[in-house]
Amino acid sequence: MSVPYWRARDRYYRILGNKCDKCAQEFFPPVAICRKCHSLNLSDCEMPKTGTLLSYTLQRESVQGFEDQEPMVFGLLKLENGVRIVAQIVDIPYDSLKLGMKLGAVFRRIRVDGESGQIFYGYKFGPKRE
Ligand SMILES: [Zn+2]
Repeated sequence: MSVPYWRARDRYYRILGNKCDKCAQEFFPPVAICRKCHSLNLSDCEMPKTGTLLSYTLQRESVQGFEDQEPMVFGLLKLENGVRIVAQIVDIPYDSLKLGMKLGAVFRRIRVDGESGQIFYGYKFGPKRE
C-alpha cells in the first residue's frame, strides 16, 4: 500500500480529481481521458467537500488492518459538482443516516500499518459543518 498511497497522497488528502479543459466535466478519481468528450487535456481539480447521501451500507467485518473500526459504514455520495464518490461515513450513528442528507468531508486516520506503524490519512464523510 505504501508506494501507491504516497504517490496518490493528494488524492486522499484533498480529494484531488481532475477537470476537462475542453468541456469542464470533473472526475474523481482522476482520469487520463475525458469520459464525456475524449479530450486528453485535463487539469488537477479539488472536489467539493460536501455531498448528498445517495446510498449507504453497514460492513460488520472488514479486511485485515481495519478491525478496530468495525462495524464500518460506507456511503455513495453525490458531490456538489455531480461527481459520485464512495466514502466511509463517520460520526453519525448508522440508524440516524437518511438518504438525501448532506454530509461533509473530514480528514481522518484511515489505518495504521501493523508492521511499520506508518499511519495513513485521508478523507471520510461526516456531519456537515456550517
Ligand atoms: Zn471533456
